[in-house]
Amino acid sequence: MSSAPASPFSLDGRLALVTGAGSGIGRAIALGLAAAGADLILLSERDNLGPVAAEARSAGAAVTTELLDLADRPARQAAVEDLLDAHAVDVLVNNAGLIRRAPAAEFSDADWYDVIEVNLHAAFELCRAAGRRMVDRGSGKIVNVASMLSFQGGLLVPSYTASKHALAGLTRALANEWAARGVNVNAIAPGYVATATTAALRSDPARSAEILDRIPAGRWADPEDVAGAAVFLASPAADYVHGHVLAVDGGWLAR
Ligand code: NAP
Repeated sequence: MSSAPASPFSLDGRLALVTGAGSGIGRAIALGLAAAGADLILLSERDNLGPVAAEARSAGAAVTTELLDLADRPARQAAVEDLLDAHAVDVLVNNAGLIRRAPAAEFSDADWYDVIEVNLHAAFELCRAAGRRMVDRGSGKIVNVASMLSFQGGLLVPSYTASKHALAGLTRALANEWAARGVNVNAIAPGYVATATTAALRSDPARSAEILDRIPAGRWADPEDVAGAAVFLASPAADYVHGHVLAVDGGWLAR
C-alpha cells in the first residue's frame, strides 16, 4: 500500500526561529508552526517562554528558548550571529515589535528611536543574518510581521507606522534579491488583534467602536487567526510566493 504524499503545508523537519514568542501573535504563530511539524527556537525579551515552550513540546516540537533584548544593538548583533551559527534555521519569523502612542508634534526622541530600533533595525539584522545562511544553503523562508499601518497612516503612532511601512518595503527588497536563491521573503499584515499592542485602543470606547465598525468580519482578530498565514508562508506550499504582504484583517483593507 502506498503512503499518502506529504502535505505541502507540512513543516516536518524544519527549524523555525520566532521572535517575541512569549505572548500574543508570536506565541500563536509558534504554536501553529509546531502543530504543522516544526521544531522551534523561541526568542523573547522577558522570561515568559515557559508556558509556550511547554505547549509546543507537548505538540511534539523540540524547543530551544533564548532571552535577548532586541533593543540592545551590540548584544543583539553578537547573540544573533551566535544563535544562527549554532542552529540551521529554516524559517525566521520576525514578530517582535512595540508601539508608542503620542501626537506627532509632541513625539519624544525615545518614542521614535525605541520603536524603529526593534521593529526595523533588529528585524533587518535578523533577516540579513538568517538570509545570508539560507542563501548559502539554497533554501529558507522569512516571514515578517507587518501591519495595517504598512498601508495606512494610523493615528498617534508615527514611529510605528514608519517602521511597518519600512518593513513591508524591506520584505519586497529582500525578496527581489533572494527569490532566485531559494529563499522566500514575505510578510503578514495582521488587522486589529486583541493583544497587549492594542490594549490602549480597546480600552478607549470611542476608538474601539470605530475600529470594530469598519471590520467586515465584525470582530477583532484573536492571535490564533494569524497563525495559519504564517504556516502557509513558512511551508513548501508558498515556494513561489515572494515579496507578498498578506493581510489577515477580517476584510479591513477591502472596506
Ligand atoms: P505583544 O503580545 O505585545 O507582542 C510583542 C512581542 O514583541 C512580545 O513578545 C515582546 O516580548 C516582543 N518584544 C518587544 N520588544 C522587544 C525587545 N526589545 N526584545 C525582544 N522582544 C521584544 O503584541 P502583539 O500584538 O502580539 O505584537 C506582535 C507583532 O504583531 C508586533 O510586531 C506588532 O507590531 C504586530 N502587530 C500587531 C497587531 C495587533 O493588532 N495586535 C496588528 C498588526 C501587527 P516581551 O513581552 O518579552 O517584551
